[in-house]
Amino acid sequence: MAKDQAQILIVGGGFGGLFTALDLAGAGEVTIVSPEDHFLFTPMLYEYLSGEVEAWHIAPQYKELIDDRIRTIRGEVTGIDLNARQATLKGRERTISYDVLVIALGGVTNYWNIEGAEEYALPFRKIAHADALRQRMIEALDGVPPDLPPQDARRRLTFAVVGAGASGVELSTKMADLLQDAFKRRALHGEPRVMVIEMGSTVVPGMGDEIRTIVEDALKQSRVEIHTETRVLAVKENGFTIEHNGEKTNVEAAGVIWTAGVRPNPLIEKLEVEKDRRGLIMVEPTLQVRGHKNVFALGDIAFFEDATPTLAGTAQLANQQATLLASNIKALLDGRRLHARHFEELGEAISLGTENAAVLAGGKAFGGPLARQARFALYTARLPTWHHRLKVGASWFFEGTTARPLQPLGFGR
Ligand SMILES: Cc1cc2nc3c(=O)[nH]c(=O)nc-3n(C[C@H](O)[C@H](O)[C@H](O)COP(=O)(O)OP(=O)(O)OC[C@H]3O[C@@H](n4cnc5c(N)ncnc54)[C@H](O)[C@@H]3O)c2cc1C
Repeated sequence: MAKDQAQILIVGGGFGGLFTALDLAGAGEVTIVSPEDHFLFTPMLYEYLSGEVEAWHIAPQYKELIDDRIRTIRGEVTGIDLNARQATLKGRERTISYDVLVIALGGVTNYWNIEGAEEYALPFRKIAHADALRQRMIEALDGVPPDLPPQDARRRLTFAVVGAGASGVELSTKMADLLQDAFKRRALHGEPRVMVIEMGSTVVPGMGDEIRTIVEDALKQSRVEIHTETRVLAVKENGFTIEHNGEKTNVEAAGVIWTAGVRPNPLIEKLEVEKDRRGLIMVEPTLQVRGHKNVFALGDIAFFEDATPTLAGTAQLANQQATLLASNIKALLDGRRLHARHFEELGEAISLGTENAAVLAGGKAFGGPLARQARFALYTARLPTWHHRLKVGASWFFEGTTARPLQPLGFGR
């Protein structure tokens, strides 16, 4: 394989795919395929929902990040033929051939086959999902006249977030703060109801006690109702059914948002490679797919044995893997030895409502408005490319990061 002409195909332009492409630029002929025209810095999708940040901050277009050494194709890969070394794209007859393949397709929402969940619950993984949720909250608020009695206003403004992992907690506190603020601005009676529903016995399972205490305080402060040891049985158009201690309850709701699970991209199911019991691709410590020296996989679809368990399914892991993967592709093209690396936990930063956050760094946790500032600083440093980081950092510093109220429709967004 001639090093400069080697065709490197990256499927997926998220944390794994984009950061690999950026590290590879100049080595071989790199093509990246993604259905969207932009990258998404998912950890700040909550701040996009609340208007604390804008789309260009966290979802920059690939053309802003990538120079002409990398070819981008906007499209959806529908099949990968590992023997023929080709990928097919939706709606296109021509296949794309490769010498080296990087699979970085990420995950999709897992509704666990719960009745009505896929049909009626809102996912929260993309810019379009955040737009749809914001719209749903505004429409629900617009449907409440100022003279409506508090109990009726509360019923119409009930939202449930399913799953109290970091995502569910971040989302529910953000929604609660936005809705409380809108109630005051619109002089509505009573208050909104935001519920977080968790099957396990605690919120943020898997995180330490120190950070859990901060999270629980924040949920209380944002007046989020916590329902642990509670199972969602069904989601309907206007509500949902839960079960707690064997007792079933139907709840009327303006929206149910599903953050209770991720599964690998369905394309992975079709790939005939070694997988673990969750359907994740088994990779060698070099990130090569077992049995395929020219195929690499990383991020949410890869099972990598030597990672700290809490890192599984995180951007932090995909990011660190991208650096190793790019250097291993260069080594493969040069005929050098490929390397392995142990990936480290880099700390956690959780957004809690519009004024608060929790940060865990170096084994110490702290919360409050200062943690919110620290989170912004930390995430500025983790955005792709220096150029983008500088533009975003300057925008946050000089223009501020205040939440945008849920204005009635027609008032501009
Ligand atoms: C709302 C939210 C908040 C999160 N917060 C955090 C956090 O605070 N910290 C943290 O560490 N992790 C966080 N995560 C997890 C993190 O986003 C993932 O672990 C990370 O994105 C994994 O990277 P990846 O490259 O495997 O997948 P992704 O970043 O999801 O990228 C997958 C890419 O594949 C593309 N794609 C999908 N299907 C196709 C197809 N058929 N053809 C071509 N391309 C395709 C997608 O468009 C996307 O570009 C969060 C996730 C979400 C959804």
